[in-house]
Amino acid sequence: MCCAQAAAAPAARLYSVDSYDVRIAPDLEKQRLAGEVAIRYRSRAGSLATLELDAGLGVEIAEVLDGKTQLQFERRSGLVLVALARPALQGVPRRLTIRYRAGPGKGLKFFPDQVYSEFFTSDWMVCNDRPDGRATLRLRIAAPKGWRVAASGAPAGNSEWRIGTPVAPFLYGFAAGRFQEAGDAHLRLLGSADVMLFAPAILDATRAALRFFAARTGRDYAAPLYTQVFTHASPMQENANLTLLPEAYASGLRAQPNDLWLLAHELAHQWYAVGISCRDWSDFWLNEGLATFMADAFLESRFGRERYEREIERSRGIYERLKEEGKDRALSFRAWNTPQEAGGQIPYHKGAYVLDLLRREMGDEAFWRGLEIYTRNNWNRPVTSRELQAAMEAAAGKTLDGFFEEWVYEPVDGGGRPSMQSRRGAVTAKATPLAALARNLSLARRTPVVDSTGAHGVFDLKLEWTPDDTSSAAPESTEIGPSLFTAL
Ligand SMILES: [Zn+2]
Repeated sequence: MCCAQAAAAPAARLYSVDSYDVRIAPDLEKQRLAGEVAIRYRSRAGSLATLELDAGLGVEIAEVLDGKTQLQFERRSGLVLVALARPALQGVPRRLTIRYRAGPGKGLKFFPDQVYSEFFTSDWMVCNDRPDGRATLRLRIAAPKGWRVAASGAPAGNSEWRIGTPVAPFLYGFAAGRFQEAGDAHLRLLGSADVMLFAPAILDATRAALRFFAARTGRDYAAPLYTQVFTHASPMQENANLTLLPEAYASGLRAQPNDLWLLAHELAHQWYAVGISCRDWSDFWLNEGLATFMADAFLESRFGRERYEREIERSRGIYERLKEEGKDRALSFRAWNTPQEAGGQIPYHKGAYVLDLLRREMGDEAFWRGLEIYTRNNWNRPVTSRELQAAMEAAAGKTLDGFFEEWVYEPVDGGGRPSMQSRRGAVTAKATPLAALARNLSLARRTPVVDSTGAHGVFDLKLEWTPDDTSSAAPESTEIGPSLFTAL
């Protein structure tokens, strides 16, 4: 098979991380966090001599150890390149330990009475901070007496949290400080005394949203505990089992008690980001568009259809403005290689608007059934827009090619559309994902063909083989155009 990759995604890292075992000790006075991370990893390709990890600019690395051996390393912008003492062989688990200190940064916020993380995990722990770098986590936080601490994962004692199902590091987080607390063993709320005035209303709305999302997605909230921490400044950050929100948002509920959108949006990420995560940043809308849309749908269930229409109209208005400013992009957009590039408003607001269009196109019953299928089939798996399309098509009982091509996928470079032509013993494809090629080959050869390359993106390729007897029953020449191809 010869392939010419058209996608512009950064080269995949040649290793995977199984687990992180992290200890952190924040010091509010010095605005420093002392950390140690043990990383269990394995090479994915041949023998690996250098391990490239992410470490924010505010992270100062003291030492990197393989057992007792100190390893050489080099800082390069937000990366640390570790020279392994002996190459890591494919598939063989290895471990190294990094001791570091982290100062304030985009992903680590200090205040006189609290500290918390925000999205850029490599600002407080050295890691492979890519969305496909999913791993388990053990996090231990040393905090002064009297502080309250919350973190991603299930609590294991007072100062330890564990994530047992692999999750992308950008969903790891913590908050620690002199918070007050409300809630129970399943739903915790931390914040200032002022926030506590609104605790009953927040807990009530959160419980209602938990019930709504479970009913609509067909899947209960997956962990024993969900914690919301209301902090200084303005985090709006989902983490696995933990959401950070601005304390001003809680006190704003005094004037606007129905302003539950943000609370619901972040909670919806426990399904769409934590449970099912976009495979790379190009499909970030599967996290953000779905969380935005699901928050709108929760508001519909609580306050009526008019409220839903208003929220969708707001998203449509933002999308229209972006279009006028020349900032429209396909929802599934290969040029988004970093969260910063992907983090504009398109994934959120065009995403929610397009999901509403899809709901109208399919009708309520099929649409919600499609969302259930998507959720059930992809739980704990990374996804692309193709998985959403396949689930919606299964529920609709018809192809949604036209809809997804118009609203989700980007036109192929040069204006060409994905295409695939096959004849006996050969397939020529343009701008084609390998999963689609496998499906096409399965149909053409009438035998299951599985894509186990792990490669994503789209490819121009020509595949030739020697036809066997059974395939001679297949038509000699078949033209397979975009409609069949995209139905895959
Ligand atoms: Zn979000």
